[in-house]
Amino acid sequence: MSGQRRFERRFEGPSDLHLHSLRSDGTEPPETVVRAAHRYGLRTIALTDHDTTAGWAEAAEATTSLGMTLLPGMELSAKHGWRSVHLLAYLFDPDNPALRAEMERVRTDRMGRAERIVRNISRDYDLSWADVVAQTSDGATVGRPHIADALVARGLAVDRSAAFEGILHPREGYYEGHYAPDPLTAVRLIVAAGGVPVVAHPTPAGRGLMMPVPYLEELIDAGLAGFELDHRENTPAGVAVLRGIVERRNLIVTGSSDYHGLGKPNLPGENTTSDEMVERIIARGTGVAPVFP
Ligand code: AMP
Ligand code: FE
Ligand code: FE
Ligand code: ZN
Repeated sequence: MSGQRRFERRFEGPSDLHLHSLRSDGTEPPETVVRAAHRYGLRTIALTDHDTTAGWAEAAEATTSLGMTLLPGMELSAKHGWRSVHLLAYLFDPDNPALRAEMERVRTDRMGRAERIVRNISRDYDLSWADVVAQTSDGATVGRPHIADALVARGLAVDRSAAFEGILHPREGYYEGHYAPDPLTAVRLIVAAGGVPVVAHPTPAGRGLMMPVPYLEELIDAGLAGFELDHRENTPAGVAVLRGIVERRNLIVTGSSDYHGLGKPNLPGENTTSDEMVERIIARGTGVAPVFP
């Protein structure tokens, strides 16, 4: 890299491009998430709450005051058949009507779905919808983590992870799915909004196998920018396959923590994204600018 380019660069690593706040299922306000990231030595972050941009303004205020760079982002829920697929989206226009409508549809259906899960659970356990509302901040994207917190508050699980392994596990029979677009539709929506789509934890253990390679090729043809290869839930065998695709198609690779505050053991900066890859994301995003300090 030339000295000139280095001089022009306006962000600083280390970078962690996948963090959640209580605008979705993290346990901390955006400002606290940013402070935690700063404490762990990060200098560039993306706030990627599920299906919402509600935390962007607060996060931007906090990163600016700490001299950090923010890439506004989101983790959009998608579904490929029975597989739950999460698409990280960076630097998209938050006012793009088609994308906004889809995000709203997902959030609304998540709410009804959470109520259905709670109704199922309440047949066997002392849990009410009010318990879940009490664990959810206003306007947040509702997910099973909030039901998990309600189960913990009721003494029906010791922590979130135990709730997911117990009552919330599909095998227990209370599970309900929610609406989500297929990944191809999701990629097209993000790209049309000027955003950069990256598949989050693309080869997760215990959450089903990764999407079939021919389908991944279709996503790439539609504008999928890359894969989050460094994430604690990825399996080595899957990552090896994806590395081959990344090389062949010259894709972006990211590494991130998927921090959820106290809701998961994941810590800010446990995986990071290289400066080169952050630059490629910034160069490719046209919907909104990064918030530089
Ligand atoms: P949902 O999208 O509502 O089905 O819930 C899935 C979300 O729960 C994911 O986004 C994860 O962040 C979170 N999650 C999944 N497994 C666990 C776990 N074992 N402990 C805590 N959070 C989890
Ligand atoms: Fe989450
Ligand atoms: Fe995810
Ligand atoms: Zn996430």
